[in-house]
Amino acid sequence: MKGNINVSVENIFPLIKKFLYSDHEIFLRELISNATDATLKLKHLTSIGEAKVAYGNPVIEVKVDKEQKTLHISDQGIGMTAEEVEKYINQIAFSGAEEFLEKYKDTAKDSGVIGHFGLGFYSAFMVAKEVEIITKSYTDAPAVRWVCDGSPEYSLEETDLRTERGTEIVLHLADDSLEFLEASRIEELLRKYNRFMPIPIKFGTKQEPLPVPDDAPEDYQTEYVTVDNIVNNPTPAWTKQPSDLSEEDYKAFYHELYPTQFDEPLFYIHLNVDYPFHLTGILYFPKLSKDMTLQKDRIQLYQNQVFVTDNVEGIVPDFLTMLKGVIDSPDIPLNVSRSYLQADGNVKKIANYITRKVADKLKSLFNNNREDFESKWNDIKIVLEYGMLTDDKFYEKAGDFMLYPTVDGKYYTLTELKEAIKEQQTDKNGNLVVLYAQNKEQQYTSIEQAKEKGYEVLVLDTPIVSHLLQKLEGDNEKLTFSRVDAAPIAKLIAKEEPVLAKHSDEEKQNLKAAVEKVLPKEGYMVQLEDLDSDDTPVVINQPEFMRRMKEMSATGGGGMFAMGGFPDMYHVVVNSNSALAEAILQTTDETAKENLIKQAFDLARLSQGLLKGKELSDFVKRNWELVN
Ligand code: ADP
Ligand code: MG
Repeated sequence: MKGNINVSVENIFPLIKKFLYSDHEIFLRELISNATDATLKLKHLTSIGEAKVAYGNPVIEVKVDKEQKTLHISDQGIGMTAEEVEKYINQIAFSGAEEFLEKYKDTAKDSGVIGHFGLGFYSAFMVAKEVEIITKSYTDAPAVRWVCDGSPEYSLEETDLRTERGTEIVLHLADDSLEFLEASRIEELLRKYNRFMPIPIKFGTKQEPLPVPDDAPEDYQTEYVTVDNIVNNPTPAWTKQPSDLSEEDYKAFYHELYPTQFDEPLFYIHLNVDYPFHLTGILYFPKLSKDMTLQKDRIQLYQNQVFVTDNVEGIVPDFLTMLKGVIDSPDIPLNVSRSYLQADGNVKKIANYITRKVADKLKSLFNNNREDFESKWNDIKIVLEYGMLTDDKFYEKAGDFMLYPTVDGKYYTLTELKEAIKEQQTDKNGNLVVLYAQNKEQQYTSIEQAKEKGYEVLVLDTPIVSHLLQKLEGDNEKLTFSRVDAAPIAKLIAKEEPVLAKHSDEEKQNLKAAVEKVLPKEGYMVQLEDLDSDDTPVVINQPEFMRRMKEMSATGGGGMFAMGGFPDMYHVVVNSNSALAEAILQTTDETAKENLIKQAFDLARLSQGLLKGKELSDFVKRNWELVN
């Protein structure tokens, strides 16, 4: 059997009310968008000579009437005739905005008209038990009043309630929506959604002081006038041409966007593209707080100056979500899920465009004022490193401006670095070994030793640097990175200079056994090395590979090591040519030998910051006994 599912109109309103928008508060955004559209349409029609009326300086007004429990939104736009109300309002899901854009497509594509789906108006029923439209067309047609209580029945009749062109929407608020009678709640919504809409929005009035006259007496009382309280900035910076904006304008706009942000932005990028998609905006590199998860003021997404969301995930490349600012594009489909978004061709193009603009800006900053760029490096490096790791397009371009700072405050590009260190830091197998520290204080001893040998040491101290080094090594043949304390200095960059062994293999076996007997069984591995006799007798190293894998698994990724944190493993490297090694071998008293090894081991741990708690306290006690 076949049949028709009967969709009765009666059923549609409760559905709209419940499910059309999960967020009831957006009704105001929708009604102000319609008022804006009506005004922009009139502007367009007057500009092409089709409406022979004066456009003037129209405003949109929002008013609350606590007694009547009504909320009023009125505009001075094109208004509607009775026929137009029939057509645009009584037909759900017929968008007058789309029709307008279609009709005037040659001239109106930049008019900024917002509407899309022909559903916005009905969001009024999410908060109102009855809605009135009192509207007068800009033509000679009489004003009309439409009333509907949310059932499919409505009334439409001529009215003398309005003599000027434009529309007033009156919402008789439902009992569960009386919060929208509070001025503070309305202000909050206007600030959130309408802050940068293109037509001035008036909400109440405010008192403004008059200028003090020149001949004012000493006891002059400031006088006030009542002026309209305009809550929005209709021409935000991103809608202007970059050539019309100064450095100061960009900074001022940053603070307008983020009133609680006191730091100055490091630099900005003005986005402006017409084809193949429409997008404008300004992105700012903020000073990043140490804790990136606290990042609160995020990039805001607008469509034709209407706020949509501050969750730009899936639209802006991941690494740039750490930036701040605004993007405005009517071409981002927001009625699909985020995962669909990422597959959308337009959205992909938008992401690529943004990446390219950011890379170009960084390159030009680097080229035009390298010193200034270097001075900002600390604040931007994490974003750039993250970008190199997650965005191939960005990685390709980053070589031009990615910097590698040294412990002495020099900044190299990778190409410059390779050139600078190739004499000193190429090992016997032809590998170029780049040394780095993650913490200048903690790795101080090793840094000094490396510098004595004439090596450069970089400071790479972001939490994701291990991932980056892994990638750089993969992409640059014969380039390896090693933390400066990953092995004894003499072994970090292996050269063709054999050091003679003072002791026989058998003696070395004895030495190793003696040390192993004293050391903890877990976490430490004893290694003997024939180093210069005046090199440090015992050093503790964490091999580069192990440390890096551990760090990588801690910050995501890292392959098989990601599963189950694996324990720290240190190499205890004993210099078998040192005087200490000699002494250990010579000492016959077992206790004395043990004490000697213990003291050496503790000193080595102390210099690595590995001696803690009871062991540190015991060490200090023991040493007091020596001097007191
Ligand atoms: P959309 O804005 O997507 O077209 P809406 O449901 O928000 O859909 O509005 C439907 C139509 O009703 C609009 O396209 C417009 O033609 C008409 N309309 C709504 N509000 C106004 C208004 N304030 N002034 C003039 N026309 C309006
Ligand atoms: Mg609309």
